[in-house]
Amino acid sequence: MSRTAQCSCGQLSVTVEGDPELVVLCNCTECQRRTGSAFGIGAYFKHERVTDISGEQTIFQRSSDSGRQAEAHFCSVCGTTVYWQLEMWPDRYGMAVGCFADPNFPQPRASVWSATKHEWVRTPEDCREFEDQGSRA
Ligand SMILES: [Zn+2]
Ligand SMILES: [Zn+2]
Repeated sequence: MSRTAQCSCGQLSVTVEGDPELVVLCNCTECQRRTGSAFGIGAYFKHERVTDISGEQTIFQRSSDSGRQAEAHFCSVCGTTVYWQLEMWPDRYGMAVGCFADPNFPQPRASVWSATKHEWVRTPEDCREFEDQGSRA
């Protein structure tokens, strides 16, 4: 099964094959700023599962709350971050779950950085919660 994630304007799209290895809900302050929302949700795929990347993108590099580097790939036109690369997971891409616009997308199994979780956010059932980045590797 393949799925395609795309940005708001549709110019940048990424197609992946199969189910994600892991889906993580992240409450860190950087995900809050990146998304403009209370948390970010990322689906992680090995590089070889990514079958197509098309469109113009810009790369923004920053340090994460854990002090490691993260590289966000966003649409040069509308600014949506479609996927990213974390220093801690060099062989996988994180894909922005919202960019799949699929209500049946697999649910998060880990919720990380609960230390900065918004007070009203409830962690889903069957989702392990971690104060910090957890042990995702
Ligand atoms: Zn776009
Ligand atoms: Zn985060």
